[in-house]
Amino acid sequence: MFDTRDEILEALNMPIEEFRADVLAPAGSVPLPGGGITGMAMLGYSNICRSQCLYCGMRAGNKAIPRYRMGPAEALALTGIGRELGFGRLFLISGEDRGYSFEDIISLVSGARAQGYTRIDLACGEFSLEQYKMLRDAGCTRYVMKFEMSDREDFDRLNPSTSFDRRMAAIEAVIESGMELGSGNIVDYPGHNIEKMAGDIDLMRRLRISWAPVVPYMPAANTPLALEGGRGSLELILREIAILRLMLPDVDITAGQPGEDMKKGFGDEQGNLNAVAAGANVLFADLLPAGRAQDFNVVDNRNLPGLGHMRRISELSNRPLILE
Ligand code: SF4
Repeated sequence: MFDTRDEILEALNMPIEEFRADVLAPAGSVPLPGGGITGMAMLGYSNICRSQCLYCGMRAGNKAIPRYRMGPAEALALTGIGRELGFGRLFLISGEDRGYSFEDIISLVSGARAQGYTRIDLACGEFSLEQYKMLRDAGCTRYVMKFEMSDREDFDRLNPSTSFDRRMAAIEAVIESGMELGSGNIVDYPGHNIEKMAGDIDLMRRLRISWAPVVPYMPAANTPLALEGGRGSLELILREIAILRLMLPDVDITAGQPGEDMKKGFGDEQGNLNAVAAGANVLFADLLPAGRAQDFNVVDNRNLPGLGHMRRISELSNRPLILE
């Protein structure tokens, strides 16, 4: 099922009732990877970024947010709290902060491994193949390098600090390094359409991703793209999740999805439950202290509630919560 872009496009164009019966319901019945909802601890260790992605609140041109950079010691104190809470999986993320030395990134990854994390995901930008191999050797399990948009023209317009070719070369280097790849798109950004979305989903299949960190477009204040349109369609993100689950039954798919109330961000209970019912499985708990969480603002109202919220989604969806 969904071996080609045309088959994906056909599903995206189905009348909603037909889609619910033929795609959404079967996708919700596929056993989730790991046997339940995967809870991961997440730490945004630096919100400094040299890039100017038109959709992102952390773009270098946004002078309205306070910037911070946590060295390995400060970051590891917080990841240690995640271990104490019982998390075995960690997602470390930062902007493209070239003031953060590569040696410090290695120390952070190996330090988190020493704390007992069994899986570490890392997203901190484009590096060379040799550097990806060093990250792999330090204990990084999966590198997250989103392609954001498979349409070359859109990518080059919305990501002026890099290029489509550079991004795809970086993704190929991650694959060649032997780390797993997390990659995906933004759904329904201004200028996106169903045909492009079919191409996005097909690209995830061809890249053999192990995590689809997909979200609908969510506007961020002080960004150029926020002037062009509002939040992406909640129906389309659910369609994408369901197609992905049937197409790639073993991959992680982000369940921290927004709902109707944009103020609740990725922690919207109904948004999360709808995503799980469509086949998504990964929720995140933010390790940033309350005073800093709002500064890691790739989108407005990012909001990642903690373990209590994960337990509630697990209970309401009748799926076990897996932390290790
Ligand atoms: S998407 Fe990433 S690289 Fe682009 S501006 Fe935001 S933090 Fe920087």
